[in-house]
Amino acid sequence: MKTECYPQMKLYRIYNPAFCIRQTGFSREYEKHYEGIFTQGSGYFHMRGSYEEGISYENQAEEYMRMPANVTIEKPHHTVSKWGTYIPGITGNHPLLHEELVNLPYAASFEAEFNGIRLDMSTDCIHNMERILDMRDGVLYRTFQWKGSENTTIHGTYRRFISASRKNLLVQEIEYKAIDGTCALTLYHDINRQVKTNGYEHIIRSEKTVQDNLIMLSLTTDMQDEAAMISSVFTQKGTFLGNTAEDKCILHTTLRQGESIFIRKLTILSGSKDKGGLLSPTAMQAQLEDAKAHCDTLYREHQTVWDAMWERAHITIEGAPADQQKINFAIYHLLRCQNTENASTAICAKGFSGEAYFGHYFWDTEIYLLPFYLHTTPEAAKRLVEFRIHTLPGAQKNAAAYGYVGARYPWESSGEGEEQCPNWQYADHEVHVTADVIFGLWHVFKATGDETLLQKAFPVMIETARYWMERVEWRQDGTIHLNGVMGPDEYICICNDNAYTNEMVSRTLSMTLEAIGLIKQKADAVYKAAGLTEEECEKFALCAEGLRILTEKRQGVIMQCQDFDNFEEPAFETIWKDRQKPYGHFVSQERNYRTKALKQADVLMLPYLFPNAMSEKQITENYRYYQPYTTHDSSLSAVVHGIVCSGLGWLEEAYHFFQTAASIDLDEKRAGAAEGIHIANCGGLWQAVIYGFAGMNRCYEEKELAFTPHLPDAWHSLSFQVCHNNSYYRVSIVRKGQEYEVLVQ
Ligand code: BGC
Repeated sequence: MKTECYPQMKLYRIYNPAFCIRQTGFSREYEKHYEGIFTQGSGYFHMRGSYEEGISYENQAEEYMRMPANVTIEKPHHTVSKWGTYIPGITGNHPLLHEELVNLPYAASFEAEFNGIRLDMSTDCIHNMERILDMRDGVLYRTFQWKGSENTTIHGTYRRFISASRKNLLVQEIEYKAIDGTCALTLYHDINRQVKTNGYEHIIRSEKTVQDNLIMLSLTTDMQDEAAMISSVFTQKGTFLGNTAEDKCILHTTLRQGESIFIRKLTILSGSKDKGGLLSPTAMQAQLEDAKAHCDTLYREHQTVWDAMWERAHITIEGAPADQQKINFAIYHLLRCQNTENASTAICAKGFSGEAYFGHYFWDTEIYLLPFYLHTTPEAAKRLVEFRIHTLPGAQKNAAAYGYVGARYPWESSGEGEEQCPNWQYADHEVHVTADVIFGLWHVFKATGDETLLQKAFPVMIETARYWMERVEWRQDGTIHLNGVMGPDEYICICNDNAYTNEMVSRTLSMTLEAIGLIKQKADAVYKAAGLTEEECEKFALCAEGLRILTEKRQGVIMQCQDFDNFEEPAFETIWKDRQKPYGHFVSQERNYRTKALKQADVLMLPYLFPNAMSEKQITENYRYYQPYTTHDSSLSAVVHGIVCSGLGWLEEAYHFFQTAASIDLDEKRAGAAEGIHIANCGGLWQAVIYGFAGMNRCYEEKELAFTPHLPDAWHSLSFQVCHNNSYYRVSIVRKGQEYEVLVQ
């Protein structure tokens, strides 16, 4: 392999605060949070924004047992830093947490010694450390001054990105410049195996070879998934050489004052869940060679892809730069997770930026994430639907395991659709996810008109409908009930006739009936393969009709579930001592479960999803009733309340919820992204702008695109692009006194 791949590093883009997240100085308290915030990814793989050299006192390979718990109240294992490299689909089997996404060896690893002392951002030798994530192209920068002694100083500059054009390529560029004195440097290039996932070792086999400047590593997890990495470095100042004692490649060099060294590290990753399977070492080496041959244009081709993604997904807010940065942050992470190629994985609750929720897939996909993809990159939305089609056999197994026919989608899904939720409350009762899956695929069908996709999804609709026919209770008096469930509000453990669940089951059965009509007409073979009887269809219709009735006790207020009125009033004043922390931190689970305290929006999910189905008066009454009980302990709550308020034209409240939602990941003091960012909330923020402030209608409620804007006071105008019926529209909303000028073209 030739070694002339070392042009001088350039900062290609001018700093733009609306598109940049900045960290200044090292802080033990916020380090892990920034690692989550700075996560980079290409859909193919993702990497937390940790330092290349790690932190000397941090043992990334520490073993401990993470116990199943309610994540809101769990006290996670507190370390200062946590590396994370994830290839969606590469999983392991944890004895208590079940299938989990495996944290792979740290391929970004690059250590340095200056006059015999290891580089470590947490030491006094480091000054003016600054990191910037540029969200326009997902490039992470770091600069610092490194004092080796009284008279020697190095200026360090790091830049890295996960290529958007070659999705399994990591590009790192490092430059050291001696700004004072003569500096003796020892540099170590590595793929570091000292990692664990939630304190657990999932890697049962790993082979590493170190030769010249090339490191190859292959591994097998305890789920028999395989991954491989191959990595090389290039510099103008000599060759890194494999050192068996260190298990790394090493280079010694000296920089005289004013001299610099530029290093480029390229790494190719591969996982066995990829469409083509695990790449062979030869194929990976060829990809590495090719990347090296194009190293001068790697950034530009990567940038072109990001530019195209932003072109489709951008939202421009005039008048509020801070809000622009917040929405950009949400869009950046949604784009990073976007996957238009592989339907065997979806997007996990942390968007592959941390180990909370163990890489499982939730209802977050259909309700919170799909709308963004659907209206910016419909292909990515279709892959998410296909993921549910692909996991139908798993959902059928779940139904059978619970003693039912048909398909029951898991609350926390594995890549094969089997239940992975370690807590029985949610796994057994949060059945609404099965209806949410149908709602999601119907939404995609309504927005794209893709009949081929509907045909493929048809068995999902029929099998889930069959499950409901056994899961609901058909009473002698002719009424139909759905008992023993947990609604979206996870602070009521088991209840009967949860309004949201009933409404979603009823509506999705109606959607299924509509699909049956369509498929019968247009795809006879698909219809016949489903083996439907007329009696079955009649039963679906009866259930859709019967479950629609929501339990109303007060005028206009929908009861969250039967007996909700009889639950005890929560003693927020005495129990919830610090409103900066979740209510769940202060109350025992037992006490919480029998009061009216809500973790998140439940009944209010209905006017959020179906704004046309209720009168303004009824929405107002429900909002006024439920909002005071809602703790918003879940990150999925604030955006829903905000959107409902926007619909009512209550701008102050809507804006307050937008800010609350944005602060979940971005407020440094909360350090909320330490265990990974909240990707559903990112999708929710996008919805808060598009469905909320811009007031875009839902394509499953009305055919034509329409907008009823209510912009926050500071926003002069709002513009964005949305895909609707397979065409892209540029939308611009400009405030004109008390009115708005809306242009759709
Ligand atoms: C919420 C769920 C959500 C899950 C994953 C929980 O805290 O209550 O609604 O699906 O987090 O984001």
